[in-house]
Amino acid sequence: SDLINTSSSLERTLKPHQEFRFEVPPTASVTIKIKTDAPGTAELFGTELSRGTPYTFTGCKSAIYTWTGCTLIIEGAPSVEYIAEETPMSTYLNLHIALEKLRVAASDCPPTADGAQGPRILLIGPPDVGKTTLCKILTGYAIRQGRKPMVINLDGGSEGVLSVPGTLSAASFGSVMDVEDGFGNSPMSAPSAIPVKLPLVYYYGLEAPESGAKRYKKLVTRMSVAVNSRLEEDIESKNTGLIIDTPSFDNQSNGDLISYIVAEFSVTAIAVLGSERLYNTMLKSFSSASPNINVIKLPTSGGCVDRDLPFKKACRDAAVKKYFFGDEKCTLSPYTVTVEFESPTFALWEVVDSADGDRTNLSFLPIGEDESSLQGEEVRKLAPADIDSRFENLIITVLQVDANHATAKEVGESPVLGFLYVQEVDDKAKRMKVLSPVPGRVPAKALLVGKWPEGMFLT
Ligand code: ADP
Repeated sequence: SDLINTSSSLERTLKPHQEFRFEVPPTASVTIKIKTDAPGTAELFGTELSRGTPYTFTGCKSAIYTWTGCTLIIEGAPSVEYIAEETPMSTYLNLHIALEKLRVAASDCPPTADGAQGPRILLIGPPDVGKTTLCKILTGYAIRQGRKPMVINLDGGSEGVLSVPGTLSAASFGSVMDVEDGFGNSPMSAPSAIPVKLPLVYYYGLEAPESGAKRYKKLVTRMSVAVNSRLEEDIESKNTGLIIDTPSFDNQSNGDLISYIVAEFSVTAIAVLGSERLYNTMLKSFSSASPNINVIKLPTSGGCVDRDLPFKKACRDAAVKKYFFGDEKCTLSPYTVTVEFESPTFALWEVVDSADGDRTNLSFLPIGEDESSLQGEEVRKLAPADIDSRFENLIITVLQVDANHATAKEVGESPVLGFLYVQEVDDKAKRMKVLSPVPGRVPAKALLVGKWPEGMFLT
């Protein structure tokens, strides 16, 4: 029963179509539940809360919306909390309904027909306009409708939506999402409460797509091939279609990357949030040239908040910690593995600056440049690496490439098997200590250390 602890609990009654917005610092925690002796239901970014269940939040800026009205009981002290009357939720629901019509049509087609492919929507806009949030809402609604959406995150700069930060990832969702955790980012090898199939993960190694456009595009292509082959084996996912979240594309120079993504994933709708200018650019580039692509403009929620750099860093750190240590619901115990660098069985690679005149293997060519117009410093490449103390406190990506087949091309395009964290490097003894989610030796695979995400996650 709902005994109210008056010292630390708040009660907030929402009218229909209102939302409760709240922020919790990374160091605090707040528990929220729907009061069971009052009527009504509520949802968090598209996923329904079950009545009476307490949900715990930490390090987040979030909102609970109600179509019916409801009363919430809040324990702990959010750093910000208020009730908002104006939200774009009806527009977002209409978008879902439009997508659902297309899914019904796709499901009615024979599985092998072109029309069996559901809508593929791309969400674009400046930073902090609610792209990831809308991606969650559309995913949540699709799941509640009994669909199986494939969600793709192309934002390697984010806090790690389906995997650790720094990755591009995709997963198909077959049942409800986790309210507290959204998409979740559990390690691929660990038992997980999160109902995703093993996500497809690629590691990019830089923060912004523009700084290594050539490599970024290559990974987008690899991802689209992998996603399409999964869809061929899963007609429900294919009928449901794709929901694609992107890095912040907010200026003209990214038009090329957007067009590339649209083409590779055969996108059928582009939803622009928070930028009239970008919307108009998209209309011009796609409406007449590609009549099959719908360009739509969507309102941004007034609840979207700019996350400052320390908050974003704290979210990335939390995501990395969670990969190795789990959370309250699923604690993990990583293994400390000592790695000897005399005759290693793995092949260590690194993203390095290529200002040294070596112009082979320039897999990170920045946008708009080719091999003949290089600006030294900005250019990165993949190179074999020796053990070094500069790797301390960084993430090492374990790739699905056998160590003895590790060429720059293979390393550059391979999907991810898992991640290690470098705790300590002993240069003299040529030895390092890494945290690993699985016991035993580091596998005889290619390992890659990038320049992003920056280190020091576990301290
Ligand atoms: P983007 O993907 O465009 O960078 P996000 O979807 O991540 O933007 O939103 C930015 C921040 O605002 C996130 O922390 C998100 O949880 C928060 N946010 C989004 N919508 C709301 C809302 N309606 N109320 C409160 N916070 C919100």
